[in-house]
Amino acid sequence: MDPAVQIPVCHQCGVDDFLIFESFTPAAGDTPAMANYTCSVCESFAGHFVPAGWLPPGQGK
Ligand SMILES: [Zn+2]
Repeated sequence: MDPAVQIPVCHQCGVDDFLIFESFTPAAGDTPAMANYTCSVCESFAGHFVPAGWLPPGQGK
């Protein structure tokens, strides 16, 4: 898997329990889905590609 593709997790806290997703762009063609998120505990921000099939909590399913 492309190292730029990761499941969202706070790298400060090491968990995904406190993430607030600010944007999610579904996959399109060969471009993976992308998520931007902030951790509500330490306020660190991250944005990167996410694995196929991953959806923010509360979306899809
Ligand atoms: Zn955090």
